[in-house]
Amino acid sequence: MRVGGVQIGGGAPVSLQSMTKTHTTDVKATIAQIKELEDLGCEIIRVAVPTRESASCLGEIKKQIRIPLVADIHFSHRMALDSIAQGVDKIRINPGNMKDKDDVEEVVRAAKDKGVAIRIGVNSGSIRARGEEDVPIADLMVNAILRYCEHFESLGFRDIVLSLKASDVPTSMAAYRRIAKECDYPLHLGITAAGPASSSIMKSAIGIGGLLSEGIGDTLRVSITGHPTEEIKAGRGILEALGLREVEGWELISCPTCGRCEIDLETIVEEVKAKLPPEKQGLQIAIMGCAVNGPGEAQECDLGIAGGHGFGLLFKRGEMVRKIPESEMVTQLLKEIDEMSAATNGGSGQ
Ligand code: SF4
Repeated sequence: MRVGGVQIGGGAPVSLQSMTKTHTTDVKATIAQIKELEDLGCEIIRVAVPTRESASCLGEIKKQIRIPLVADIHFSHRMALDSIAQGVDKIRINPGNMKDKDDVEEVVRAAKDKGVAIRIGVNSGSIRARGEEDVPIADLMVNAILRYCEHFESLGFRDIVLSLKASDVPTSMAAYRRIAKECDYPLHLGITAAGPASSSIMKSAIGIGGLLSEGIGDTLRVSITGHPTEEIKAGRGILEALGLREVEGWELISCPTCGRCEIDLETIVEEVKAKLPPEKQGLQIAIMGCAVNGPGEAQECDLGIAGGHGFGLLFKRGEMVRKIPESEMVTQLLKEIDEMSAATNGGSGQ
């Protein structure tokens, strides 16, 4: 399916999403935040639509951004209808939050008329057991979303993306694994209410990353209590770690150090990292503490150092080229990086 200019599912690359944290009625601030996210690689952006006034701002926001715009709707079908009329590319609703079946059907028909996709998003917090207290929450989520899909399909609507987010990783993973077996709609992955960056990145890397590694998922958002740019960086990091995106910038590989390390590896890594030129198409650089794993890792990277007793062996594209004293490691490595970067990217690395 397509959301604006972005293909979701059907073998398309997994797309990165985020959500603005501004008040949508503050059009200027919302557009500024979206542009910042676009520059970082955000491919689909969602904005909250808590009032009809905020829905009325969507057309203006859409005009000024490059990526597809998604309206996040809860409770009121009126706001969904307004958002569709404003020209959004997708709406996100939880049909269970709309009291009247007729209201849901009105929204689905409007979306169908305008070619607007709908994400059906079920969160664990919105599920009520109602006599099914013994059924695992993941199954309740899947059962609910399958009922919504059937309802939408009965109206001839299949332009659907699904999400089943829980704040705990095992529940989310169980729900997504089951829905992936039950239907072939594209899946939007996420762990909801995952907390600040420190806990969200951990939960999302395991939950979203684990599902992607099993071939489940078509688009993702990492939810972080913090600036949305952190969500894009974290999402991109997950895709890069799984080999689903080319690594942007430099990939720095360094060991954790241990009692065998005879150089101040932590300082060397920090200094090199701080001075790396801002490349778009980066190289792999290994900085390793000793001869145990050092030469192997260094040989596999574009550039690498394997530490010894106050010195390091420098490797270039698999070949050991010379021995460098510890005091010169940072400067010599940066010089080599600059030269290799200039040759690889066709210009000076600085
Ligand atoms: S490479 Fe050497 S120093 Fe680094 S963690 Fe491994 S054994 Fe320790």
